[in-house]
Amino acid sequence: MKGLQEFSRSMHKRYRYHKLRQSRVWQEYDTLNGKKTPALTIIIQTTGCRWAHHSGCTMCGYFRDSLPGGIDETQIISQMDKALEKYAGESIIKIFTSGSFLDSKEISFHTQKKILKEVAKKPHVKKISIESRPEYVTDKIEELAQTIKPVAFEVSIGLESANDHILEKSINKGFLFNDWLKAAKCIREHNLDLKTYLLIKPAFLTEREAIEDCIQSAGKILDFSTTISFNPVNIHSYTMLEWLWNRGEYRPPWLWSIMSILKEVNHLDDKTHIQCDIIAGGQKRGAHNCGKCDKKILDNINNFSLSQNEKFLVDVECECKKKWEGILELEGFTKGFYF
Ligand code: SF4
Ligand SMILES: [Zn+2]
Repeated sequence: MKGLQEFSRSMHKRYRYHKLRQSRVWQEYDTLNGKKTPALTIIIQTTGCRWAHHSGCTMCGYFRDSLPGGIDETQIISQMDKALEKYAGESIIKIFTSGSFLDSKEISFHTQKKILKEVAKKPHVKKISIESRPEYVTDKIEELAQTIKPVAFEVSIGLESANDHILEKSINKGFLFNDWLKAAKCIREHNLDLKTYLLIKPAFLTEREAIEDCIQSAGKILDFSTTISFNPVNIHSYTMLEWLWNRGEYRPPWLWSIMSILKEVNHLDDKTHIQCDIIAGGQKRGAHNCGKCDKKILDNINNFSLSQNEKFLVDVECECKKKWEGILELEGFTKGFYF
């Protein structure tokens, strides 16, 4: 998909990178052994995702948080030290870069170990979570896991879709389902936790196609993932998706669609944790409904993600549901089915 790659690259070129920033840190809730648990999320600035520098995924603007010119190890450690000053006894610590923690071009293996060792020393930490593209997952993760024992280690991978056609032609993901599978097997063989992200509504899919893709993808990855985390698209600046959205050719997913995905996937099995993290929910750049029912549904999705209690998946009454149902029925005919 050379055209898609060139287009994504041309969007990125419009952006002017800033100087080195400090890490971003915030407290939130996540789950640990099925229970709602306080978590500390840390995002450190690195040279960024290698794939984003090549061309990048069509919805991803995280390259704007990186510094391609290079960030040395001392700066990375100093960002971590500063971030950890905010530690307030959380049991989960998530350490993200705007790329792959396991990519040695972003963070050397030596520094990866050093960071994890420091974090695992925090008095109440029980789980450390990192993110990576599949190509950087190797048997070396065992050495990292040993460094932090008995703290649990979770590796998260953004698969987005288990459909190769969508990965290639909608997302420009730069890897295929089997690449994820190889990494997933490696993570599970080492008895580590695997969180897999699925994207709700990649470019060029109708609302109905997006729902079906998420349900089918979840079915294909359940056996390997300890958690499936659905990420509904939110429009990032300097991306191809933003370009489509500005032309009125893309709408972020309806919250009704998210509810219907969660309801279906929740019934597929009872061992995989299902969650959905909605950024910019209820806003025009994020997943939204009519504006009147958004808050209630967003709260329900959040509560379901933290508790797995299906009572939160009951529908809220709102007249906009009829409009959404009409879109599911008609959109394929007016746009022409893409898949
Ligand atoms: S979504 Fe992940 S893999 Fe894709 S460009 Fe962004 S950071 Fe890189
Ligand atoms: Zn509504």
